[in-house]
Amino acid sequence: MSDDKIWANSGDSHYMEPPDLYNQLPEHLRERMPRTVRDEERGVETIIVDGASFERPIPKPVTPEQLLRNAARPLEDDLDESEGQVRAPGALDPNLRLVDLDQEGVWAEAIYPSLGTWTFNIRTPEVVREGCRISNDFFIDFQRHSPRYVVAASIPLLDTADTVAEIRRCAALGFKLGFFSVKPPTGRPDWHYNDEWEPVWEALEQNGMVLGFHIGTEPVDPRGRIGLYHRGPGGAVLNYVETTYGGQRAVSQLIACGALDRHPDLRVLVSEGGATWGPFLADRMDEGYRQHGAAVRPRLSRLPSEYLYEQVYASFQHDRSAVLANTALGWKNVMWGSDYPHYEGTYGHTQKTLHELFDDCPSADSYRIRIGAFQELFPHVPAAPGGVQPG
Ligand code: MN
Repeated sequence: MSDDKIWANSGDSHYMEPPDLYNQLPEHLRERMPRTVRDEERGVETIIVDGASFERPIPKPVTPEQLLRNAARPLEDDLDESEGQVRAPGALDPNLRLVDLDQEGVWAEAIYPSLGTWTFNIRTPEVVREGCRISNDFFIDFQRHSPRYVVAASIPLLDTADTVAEIRRCAALGFKLGFFSVKPPTGRPDWHYNDEWEPVWEALEQNGMVLGFHIGTEPVDPRGRIGLYHRGPGGAVLNYVETTYGGQRAVSQLIACGALDRHPDLRVLVSEGGATWGPFLADRMDEGYRQHGAAVRPRLSRLPSEYLYEQVYASFQHDRSAVLANTALGWKNVMWGSDYPHYEGTYGHTQKTLHELFDDCPSADSYRIRIGAFQELFPHVPAAPGGVQPG
């Protein structure tokens, strides 16, 4: 394995919200914004949002020993073990973050919320509208620290007029990416109901904002369960696998209802969900479109697979098969992502992961997956160092 540093853009990264983010909101709104309370003894975290609360097991932190085992270089100085967690130092701080990125070999990033993923569980339009506004005003300043940051705007999804207004406002502020849950909030129709969502796709397309679905963002169901929550043998792996399906479902809805047909400039990014599903889904949709053609409404201008291959992008972290989705299956919109600073991510072993994925990959394909696909989606971002890597 080569020791050369290789660079990659990340289609999946996160910021951590400061604890006082919502302090400017009036009291009656502030108390309804998401917050978490950790009970280390019971090993559960309670998420409190808009008057409801639900528990989930505290994700087990990667131990320093595990990270060191995976690391391409010594890490002792980077580990912050406060509260038993290993934290990337730059998760909260936009200046320290650049140090982390340079060290890992990550150039530019699509940056999603962390705590803000729970805002899709808010039930009150005013609460989500004002909460997203406060968050976006804070994180546009975060984005301004570096042209390498592509921060996702938080989008309120309870009222279509609010959704469109915040997309327009955020685009004017300089956001290039809008953060959507893979499934609309409880009580709202799914993404393929055109009467409801058409103005939203139109606003995204007109304002040059990429539609960003981050996986694992389904709203909590009415029984207070997070996603499809499995207990019993294999539960941890089953739950992790469950999180990947939502992004695929959202993409199939957008294609089948004709949204991507009507909006050829709309681009969709599915972050953290792997990539090999793209060609698989394209084939399934084409088969359905053709074999069940008599029942297909609406008719599309092209085959479903063509929208997926051209307008949909996906990020992965470790999956070896994802590289083959590009090189062997021909989906050129596959991109890498770090998931910084989350546990599923590559922080601490990014170079090792990149070398394992790309040392044997043809250089033009490697460049496309690491850098080119991201750059196509966000052409305003300055070019990554290094140019095309030697094969
Ligand atoms: Mn992520």
